[in-house]
Amino acid sequence: MSILRSDLRVLGLIGLAWFLSACGSLTPDGSPEQQRAATVDRVYVIDCGENHAKDLSLWTTVAADKGKPYVFSNNCYLIRHRAGWMLWDSGNSDKIATMPKGLVNPRGTLTAYMKKPLRDSLGEIGVTPDLIAHFAMSHSHGDHSGNANMFIRSIIYMQSAEYDAIYGPAPEKLGIPPANFANLLGARIVKLNGDHDVFGDGSVVIKPTPGHTPGHQSLFLRLPKTGPVLLSGDFVHLKSNWEVRRVPSFNYDLEQSVRSMNEMETFIKATGARLWINHDSEMGRVIPKAPAFVE
Ligand SMILES: [Zn+2]
Repeated sequence: MSILRSDLRVLGLIGLAWFLSACGSLTPDGSPEQQRAATVDRVYVIDCGENHAKDLSLWTTVAADKGKPYVFSNNCYLIRHRAGWMLWDSGNSDKIATMPKGLVNPRGTLTAYMKKPLRDSLGEIGVTPDLIAHFAMSHSHGDHSGNANMFIRSIIYMQSAEYDAIYGPAPEKLGIPPANFANLLGARIVKLNGDHDVFGDGSVVIKPTPGHTPGHQSLFLRLPKTGPVLLSGDFVHLKSNWEVRRVPSFNYDLEQSVRSMNEMETFIKATGARLWINHDSEMGRVIPKAPAFVE
């Protein structure tokens, strides 16, 4: 009987602890305080190439930008979470690192360069592709999927609409190079239809932001010192486009692109996240690059 009573007391204490952790603590005025959110350990922003445009107006739709050159930055983001590594985007193909004159895209609008192969950049951090448990791309265009075939052993997260575009009848018509996915048919691909909390603790959440491509997605991260960050992918290319909701004319769905921007504005306001715009080279200049990291 006494054993039972002590067991009940232990269970009661466990229950109380669970109740308190589920509710969060109370502030002096008695209102529930937000629970301390889980974070990743750090993120490495890896230089994954440059894309040189001859005519910026294709991205900004501004007449004054016609014929203006622009160098788009292009990053991969390696996330260290206590439960494992995750890579977001895979940049320009490592093969481009052997091409001193770069590689012109099929539409002739960009020349892609790759100073250092992604494999080497990962190696500097002490990571090989096999160690990356989780892999996702914002979308399947060549400057984000260039090295996707390297991550055959990772769990790969894709919106269903993007999966259907890649493996559908005409990926090229959507600007998707099918060769970038040739190795991945046997891979573990998790098809998503909305948000996905990668580690189950809210520290890394994939957010659907369709429009640039049918299943474009963005990544929300909670960093321990910097706080929440939203990695744009290509739902927006430039800060100037973000400020006035401008969408490149070649996006898959222009109205959906604007809707995604508006949704992300609401999300940013709700979470207090900073927006890191991948291709905005001025914005990226102030963010430390790998092998340094951001906490
Ligand atoms: Zn891009």
